Amino acid sequence: MSRTDDDSWAITEGVGATALGVARGRVTETDSVWPVYADPYAHYFVEAAVAAGWSSPFGEDGERMRAMSAYIASRTKHFDDFFTTAGANGLDQAVILAAGLDTRAWRLPWISGTTVYELDQPKVLAFKQRVLTAHAARPATGYVAVPIDLRKDWPEALRHAGFDASTPTVWSAEGLLPYLSAADQDLLFERIDTLSAAGSRLDVEAFGPDFYSTEGLARRRERIERARGAARAAGRPELHDPSRLWYLEPRTNVAQWLAARDWEVTTIDAPDLMAHYQRPAPEDGEDPAPDTSFVEARKT
Ligand code: SAM
Repeated sequence: MSRTDDDSWAITEGVGATALGVARGRVTETDSVWPVYADPYAHYFVEAAVAAGWSSPFGEDGERMRAMSAYIASRTKHFDDFFTTAGANGLDQAVILAAGLDTRAWRLPWISGTTVYELDQPKVLAFKQRVLTAHAARPATGYVAVPIDLRKDWPEALRHAGFDASTPTVWSAEGLLPYLSAADQDLLFERIDTLSAAGSRLDVEAFGPDFYSTEGLARRRERIERARGAARAAGRPELHDPSRLWYLEPRTNVAQWLAARDWEVTTIDAPDLMAHYQRPAPEDGEDPAPDTSFVEARKT
């Protein structure tokens, strides 16, 4: 699947299926002996998708699965802690951009009166709601789904859904940026900045220059091709190449951009984050952690 400016997707298609890949990683962590978090809903999403014909992009590739699961575990826990800390500082309005199958609105201990707004493509949020409803899962706080493409006028949709720009907001963008063009990424941050009252907090998974580089892409494609070949040889379902969904072009440095606009910024790189949560990348793996960093910012 190649990208177009107004493409859309269901959960098992193209960009939508990347949310299932993350859910698959969360199943692995939840089922581990000492999980850093438990996401009991991740199983339900994967089961429903498999029943609809989806197969994991990691196939039977144990090494890739282990590396990705360690990364996703650390990333998930990091964003969990970010939201919990924001709540402990009184923030009760949360916006999860590109929420996918994230279940924080259902499983985190939100402070009283919190509203969580989730933005993602309509069919992705519809699948999520369908599966959670089928399992009688109830949000742990106020929850508002805002089904919209993040390249459209989502600030208007958010306001229409009840969002109050005069209240400090806690924002996240996890697993999103490579799926936006560089120009759409810039627009996203302009809009977040405009909608953020003083005291707002933002956490972003930012992708570094190696991620977007020709060399970085060639290395990842080689590994992906090996996994695809192994799946084919074993007669397993065709694996998709996720790199075809990314916009590979130079980006604005998120941390620098925010720092220049009244945001106090701290950054941690993926390997340090994984070490912090004791989910280090497997030692025998190639390229075990992606070239990402986690940019936390507070608007002054
Ligand atoms: N943040 C979630 C998580 O970590 O579980 C999902 C991450 S998944 C890798 C990427 C998500 O971004 C998908 O749910 C996809 O639908 C969403 N996404 C990407 N581009 C989008 C766009 N233009 N509009 C709305 N959602 C988008």
